[in-house]
Amino acid sequence: MAAQEKTNDALIKELQKLQQENKSLKALYRKTTIRHNKAEQELIIANKELAFQNEEKEKRAAELVIANKELAFQNEEKGKRAAELSIANKELLYQNELKEKRAAELVIAKEQAEQSDRLKSAFLANMSHEIRTPMNGILGFSELLKKPGLTGDQQQEYIRIIEKSGARMLNIINDIVDISKIESGLMEVHLDESNINEQIDFIHTFFKPEMDRKGIRFFSKKSLPLKEACINTDREKIYAILTNLVKNAIKYTDEGSIEFGYEIVEMMHASSLLQFYVKDTGIGIPKDRQEAIFERFIQADIIDKMARQGAGLGLSISKAFVELLGGKIWVSSEEGKGSIFYFTIPYKPQPHTKSDTTTFVSDTVEKTQIDPEVSGLKVLIVEDDKISDLVLSKMLKKLSHEVLHAETGVEAIETCKNNPDLDLVLMDIKMPDMNGYEATRQIRQFNKEVVVIAQTAFGLSGDREKAIEAGCNDYIAKPINKDELLTLLQKYFKKYLKANRQLNDRKHSTRL
Ligand code: ADP
Repeated sequence: MAAQEKTNDALIKELQKLQQENKSLKALYRKTTIRHNKAEQELIIANKELAFQNEEKEKRAAELVIANKELAFQNEEKGKRAAELSIANKELLYQNELKEKRAAELVIAKEQAEQSDRLKSAFLANMSHEIRTPMNGILGFSELLKKPGLTGDQQQEYIRIIEKSGARMLNIINDIVDISKIESGLMEVHLDESNINEQIDFIHTFFKPEMDRKGIRFFSKKSLPLKEACINTDREKIYAILTNLVKNAIKYTDEGSIEFGYEIVEMMHASSLLQFYVKDTGIGIPKDRQEAIFERFIQADIIDKMARQGAGLGLSISKAFVELLGGKIWVSSEEGKGSIFYFTIPYKPQPHTKSDTTTFVSDTVEKTQIDPEVSGLKVLIVEDDKISDLVLSKMLKKLSHEVLHAETGVEAIETCKNNPDLDLVLMDIKMPDMNGYEATRQIRQFNKEVVVIAQTAFGLSGDREKAIEAGCNDYIAKPINKDELLTLLQKYFKKYLKANRQLNDRKHSTRL
């Protein structure tokens, strides 16, 4: 029993202990539950916090992406701007360069203007000298001619000097006309068929006597046979260039030889060229002047001038002519040994159909020899200048049986109407009331047979074409050269006169 009680007590104690422990455990459980709940709560809060922070981070990240994009865009813009700035910079640099260039050009232009001014003044002074010198010869020797008691030889000598001075004046005037036409861009090119071999022969024949007098050997060279030497070019310009170069060669050569001619130069990628040359054994040209001599007005400005008589325009005119014909001109020269002037023109062969002799009429005439066939003409001189009329009348004295005179275009038409048997009209072009072209046009309406030769003092290329177009048969430039006039008359009246005479004979016989 006691044991039983003991066991009960023990059990009760055990139970109480267990209950106690249970209580504690419950308390612990409660505590733990509370803690757990709290922790859970805290975890939830922490989780929420984390979620919020994550969200924030994502937002921030998105913002950062946007900001990044913005930055990239701004960078791109900056790059663009930089490129634009670089272009603007380059543009500025270029404009600066242009400005500098322009400034340099202006300085050069100013210098050139000053130089050109100086050259023009020097040119005018030289020109005045060049004109006064022959005038001095003309007036001085005309005065001397008046002296009584001169021998025939003295008279001839004085007249020769007057003629030479007149020719020199005429050269200067022609050069001035040419250079002013070139300067104003009015120089025209008249292309026509031309045989260069005939031109070479003419120039050779023309200058040979002068070379012989000077004791200089004179050769010419033609590379093509006559038939192939026909080209399409402005023959008057070729003639002027060659004549000028040969004249210079004579002027600057005291002994030795002069040779001129042409060669064909084959080109790799272009059509062939005709290369003309004029070679002399004269004084030569220093290296530093070999370009300047082709510039206009240069000669007058050279202080230590090697130049002999001349206006210094010849080579610049030749250069302009050569360039108008599509070629080049240059010189190769050594001082004391001589010079070779070259110029080229395109070689465009042309089938030969006519001769050039009409251009170089004086060549075909035995000087001062009057063809007996050309005489007894009935001539009308249309001329408003008394002296020119007188000169023509004297020239025609032996060739004509009757000379009529008209001072105006209207008078000329009237005289032609009243004299249908006229053989020849020498028609001045520049007249006060009606010019010679118009007068000729009107004369041609009722008289197609009479030979009308235009005579003008303009001396310009293109005059010939205008005259022919107006109805003139031919053209002669003033001052009229007697031999040239004679050649023209022979050309027309060898043919015409016979026919006219027969016609007149018929008229006479019908009148009788
Ligand atoms: P100019 O009518 O005064 O001769 P150009 O224009 O024909 O003028 O020539 C210009 C200059 O070139 C001449 O003054 C001369 O100094 C030089 N010259 C031209 N041709 C020759 C030449 N064949 N030999 C030496 N010098 C020459």
